[in-house]
Amino acid sequence: MNEKIDVLVLRENQPEQMALLSERYQLHRYDLAGPVEQVQMLEKVALKVRAVVTTHGGGFTTDMLEQLPGLEIVASSSVGLETLCVEACHARNVAVTNTPDVLTDDVADMALMLLLATVRRLQPASRWITSGQWRTSDMFPLNTSVSGKKVGIVGLGRIGKAIAQRAEAFGMQVSYYGRSPKAESPYAYYNDLVALAEEVDILIPAIPGGVQTEQLISKAVLKALGSKGYFINISRGSVVDEQALVALLAAGELAGAGLDVFVNEPCVPSALLALDNVVLQPHCASGTVETRGEMAQLVVDNLAAHFAGNKLLTPV
Ligand code: NAP
Repeated sequence: MNEKIDVLVLRENQPEQMALLSERYQLHRYDLAGPVEQVQMLEKVALKVRAVVTTHGGGFTTDMLEQLPGLEIVASSSVGLETLCVEACHARNVAVTNTPDVLTDDVADMALMLLLATVRRLQPASRWITSGQWRTSDMFPLNTSVSGKKVGIVGLGRIGKAIAQRAEAFGMQVSYYGRSPKAESPYAYYNDLVALAEEVDILIPAIPGGVQTEQLISKAVLKALGSKGYFINISRGSVVDEQALVALLAAGELAGAGLDVFVNEPCVPSALLALDNVVLQPHCASGTVETRGEMAQLVVDNLAAHFAGNKLLTPV
């Protein structure tokens, strides 16, 4: 019988797909080992490992790459690439795969959910009932309409487009900022982010994280959005000047924010927790059973394609 191919697991996938991987491969559960066991594991198996399974949170570093001389493929269950050493992998002819498209709808839904909940003040209104205030203080103060508002999307990629479609369905007017205009897009293009922020009511980045986009949503951009403006973030915490965001929200210089991502997850600035004009989510925009299952299956299918000598499904 052929020996099973050795696969190093840096971060666990969904149970069904982990079972499939375990049937097909010799899994080394780095993710379950303590620091000492991890060193021992690598000493024992590093030369044999041909594939790595990981996620955005698990990442894959050049340090780890250097320890795995026989590595052929890194399969990550994520779309963002900033925690994976993609260039170093490619320089060594190691393939990298991610999981685009399958999570687009859920992430766009989260953006709209945060937008609606923030602008219509879902949580304070719910607390109006649970705190008993409805019975003692009459009606909840009026909030703000969503339909008719202008939405600015930063990065009209897969998720950006899906957010735009949903925003249109809610009667909002869409425009966008990007590195270049999209020929196929019906929306107004801005090559100046401050100008876009000045023009819109709601700003939503849908760009990757990493050094190139770090604090692209600067204090100046947030100030341009203004005291009636809302900021919704499902991309990465690093794309916004988080300190400025919190200060402007606390000072009433921004109307509100709906945030799924933060600079230093899982730590969230304590000042944000005290505000009632924010809606917070624990980085779970793609966190549905359906989508996480599809992402995990892509990891399984990419590994199968690679070891069968077939074309990868979602190479980076
Ligand atoms: P995508 O299709 O590659 O779209 C990314 C968009 O960002 C593209 O329009 C791209 O422009 C633009 N962009 C890239 N670098 C830029 C820069 N330096 N300045 C301005 N625009 C830039 O990716 P996607 O599938 O939509 O995913 C977008 C991001 O969403 C991911 O990278 C990830 O960080 C985040 N995400 C978050 C969650 C969550 O759970 N919260 C889940 C999935 C994804 P071009 O068209 O010019 O390349």
